[in-house]
Amino acid sequence: TEACLGAIETAGALNAFVHKTPEIALEQARAADARIAAGDAPALCGIPMGIKDLFCTKGVPSQAASRILEGFTPEYESTVTSQLFEAGAVMLGKLNMDEFAMGSSNETSCYGNAVNPWRRGNDTTALTPGGSSGGSAAAVAADLCLAATGTDTGGSIRQPAAFAGITGIKPTYGRCSRWGVVAFASSLDQAGPMTKDVRDAAIVLQAMCGHDPKDSTSADLPVPDFEALLTGDIRGKVIGIPREYRMDGMNDEIAALWDEGARMLAEAGAKITDISLPHTKYALPAYYVIAPAEASSNLARYDGVRYGHRAALSRGEGINDMYEKTRAEGFGAEVQRRVMVGTYVLSAGFYDAYYNRARKVRTLIKRDFEEAFAAGVDAILTPATPSAAFGLGEMQEADPVQMYLNDVFTVTVNLAGLPGVSVPAGLDRQGLPLGLQLIGRPWEEGDLLNTAYALE
Ligand code: GLN
Repeated sequence: TEACLGAIETAGALNAFVHKTPEIALEQARAADARIAAGDAPALCGIPMGIKDLFCTKGVPSQAASRILEGFTPEYESTVTSQLFEAGAVMLGKLNMDEFAMGSSNETSCYGNAVNPWRRGNDTTALTPGGSSGGSAAAVAADLCLAATGTDTGGSIRQPAAFAGITGIKPTYGRCSRWGVVAFASSLDQAGPMTKDVRDAAIVLQAMCGHDPKDSTSADLPVPDFEALLTGDIRGKVIGIPREYRMDGMNDEIAALWDEGARMLAEAGAKITDISLPHTKYALPAYYVIAPAEASSNLARYDGVRYGHRAALSRGEGINDMYEKTRAEGFGAEVQRRVMVGTYVLSAGFYDAYYNRARKVRTLIKRDFEEAFAAGVDAILTPATPSAAFGLGEMQEADPVQMYLNDVFTVTVNLAGLPGVSVPAGLDRQGLPLGLQLIGRPWEEGDLLNTAYALE
């Protein structure tokens, strides 16, 4: 813990931690020492972790990297973080992220972006750590903590993991409690671990998940011992390669690593088979209707009354002015864009044309996966991202759709509620990490992690 706290101090330029909690960390570390001395050390006893700012942590500022939550200090602990602490984890502080987890580059954060510790060869251009869990990815990659929490609504664990050369798993929807996690799009949001390797992911996920009566969508299912399932034996497993993910103009290095991943799994005894997920091309548009729709509803609560920031009013201004000014000052441009898109697609005149249509498309995407699994496929192998980490400021705000295209390989998994893991696959010519994604059957995170383990 002391080594991590020291590393965080010297790595300030990465802007990974937005709120440090050294007193809490040292106190938890001392308690961990005492438990170890007493011979009662749980799985994460004394393991220093970073917590994404989207998780409510009792008595510790939790702002979802938004100005609108300035000054908000929760009176309660999210279920996931409280389970981590019960398992002995130590909290070093809160990690940077895109505002309300909306973004793919960490550039929408009210704290300014976190920075990827990786560089393109000798080029000093600062690169994005990805988003929205960019602070988590940067912190793990730079050894500022041993593991971090992330959340993934459309790829926010897997894309930053790929950009930073680490491992990240989004479990099946319902595996981790969403209680105390600031809501973005409730039917898509899931928490998950971001770690140095697959074994760590198995251990941390184990502590994070489980049934929680406080989240009605949390699944009442037993949690297997994920680490014990890491045998590396994948003989006879059927791995599907979805042809729709081989997009026109695909980066040749990513295509080559994808083939290499398939070859490694085949060598380990898996059977590789071509599959079709025909509705893939509709996933991105469906996601960018459904996620903003749910966000516009979830973010209605930030009205200047209940939480954080409230705008100053001039004489003669009333409550509507207060709402408008608070939201205009408190929400950044991307969040405002999502709220506007969301309210538009949910409005009476357009509900059927957009929101309902997107929900039907979502069902078709889910069915594509169900058919592949019913045909005997155990896991699906795809690239995690369409490119390696890009330069900060390289994607223009003037064209948000360019940024949205980053999520092309990951959003399908959230729409279908499936578990997906991103593992480091190697480096590109410039020396930047690239990730491969494995998508598994619902509730089969153990099997999925074991397949990912064979790719390591
Ligand atoms: N980049 C996607 C978005 O901006 C996904 C974000 C996430 O998974 N939280 O919506």
